[in-house]
Amino acid sequence: MSKILIVGGGQGGLQLALGLLQDGHDVTVVSNRTPDDIRTGRVMSSQCMFDAALQTERDLGLNEWEGECPPIEGISLAVPAPDGSGNKAIDWASRLDRYAQSVDQRVKMPGWMDRFEREGGRLLIHDAGVDDLEDYARENDLVVVAAGKGEIVRLFERDPERSPYDQPMRALALTYVTGMTPRPDYSAVCFNLVPTVGEYFVFPALTTSGPCEIMVFEGVPGGPMDCWADVTTPQEHLAKSKWILETFMPWEAERCHDIRLTDDNGILAGRFPPTVRKPVARLPSGALVLGMADAVMLNDPITGQGSNNAAKMATAYHEAIRRQGDGPFDRAFMERAFEDFWQGYGQFVTTWTNALLSPPPEHVLKLLMAGNGSPEVAHRFVNGFDNPVDYFDWFMFPDKAEAYLAEVGAAA
Ligand SMILES: Cc1cc2nc3c(=O)[nH]c(=O)nc-3n(C[C@H](O)[C@H](O)[C@H](O)COP(=O)(O)OP(=O)(O)OC[C@H]3O[C@@H](n4cnc5c(N)ncnc54)[C@H](O)[C@@H]3O)c2cc1C
Repeated sequence: MSKILIVGGGQGGLQLALGLLQDGHDVTVVSNRTPDDIRTGRVMSSQCMFDAALQTERDLGLNEWEGECPPIEGISLAVPAPDGSGNKAIDWASRLDRYAQSVDQRVKMPGWMDRFEREGGRLLIHDAGVDDLEDYARENDLVVVAAGKGEIVRLFERDPERSPYDQPMRALALTYVTGMTPRPDYSAVCFNLVPTVGEYFVFPALTTSGPCEIMVFEGVPGGPMDCWADVTTPQEHLAKSKWILETFMPWEAERCHDIRLTDDNGILAGRFPPTVRKPVARLPSGALVLGMADAVMLNDPITGQGSNNAAKMATAYHEAIRRQGDGPFDRAFMERAFEDFWQGYGQFVTTWTNALLSPPPEHVLKLLMAGNGSPEVAHRFVNGFDNPVDYFDWFMFPDKAEAYLAEVGAAA
């Protein structure tokens, strides 16, 4: 059995750590926040996870909140008509074949950290720097860095060929609320797209105080939804959230007359450039460390894929470590572990997500319009969130889009 240390106690780091522990490895997680810091701190994500990612947690018995967490049963899409009439040009919904869920990371991560220690893992509370990594690399067979957007991930060189943007593409904000009028029929991620302004999506989740709704705002930089700079209090943040809906998505504002913040920490605003990094970093001593999840594959949240990706990558690395057996965790192992994941899955998630950050090309508009009249198109789009590889067979290319529309007999 090996001695493995993971820097970062998020979705990726903890899921991998708990899996390795079950295999009998000697595992340490280094986190710069205690479970209590996380539990009582700011929200970090909207963390909606689809079935295949949830299944990776179930496979390890980590789905502790599945019974309590409200299911997300579908996805809807609304785009306002360009004439300013308040009507919708695109307005459809479809069910997910299997539900999605969002458990607030303030609930899940402290729960998993406690469990990790109970099951014999070593949790070290420390803000790891390069000198620490040198020590960790000397004392362990493998060091994995799953430190999300932490400063330390700059050790991993940005990969310009896989990172088409060098600036943030959206001004992001989160607002966790209760009291929202439920969507009729079935629960869903209600996705709203206002061309040139930005996107808003909202869905049910489980937070520290119980069920809630998470509002996610994605404003085009410099546009009217890039509006958080002068917000200083939680109540101002809530008021700004409502203003956006009243101004650009009145049908969503209708659901929000009675909303309240779940807690004063149920808000977030920020931005970052989507960035893919080289998976292996070389420390000054020559020792190597392996990057995982957001640390090396950071996508904009517009498609809600980051936690899904972290869970799937943790699974892929777990399997790579199993396959390696007693072999060395050298550069060849590290590069293969990342590259296998990138080639088979990660590149598709990243390319699709980056595509949605630019104005939609004509064939995409045509497909989304076709969803108005074709339940088949809507169903395929909605279920692609669980496996974005599928979009590359119909959604991402004009010729494949045409062929698909002809095949299902759908017209825009
Ligand atoms: C606004 C927003 C909305 C989102 N919505 C969704 C969504 O709906 N669905 C989805 O799938 N994804 C979503 N994401 C993305 C998702 O939250 C991340 O992709 C996911 O949390 C990444 O997991 P991770 O383990 O890589 O990193 P993280 O969850 O960021 O965990 C990294 C951990 O490392 C710790 N750390 C950092 N530096 C150090 C250090 N030097 N030493 C020790 N510890 C350190 C951090 O404190 C943190 O606890 C969203 C993100 C944002 C910002």
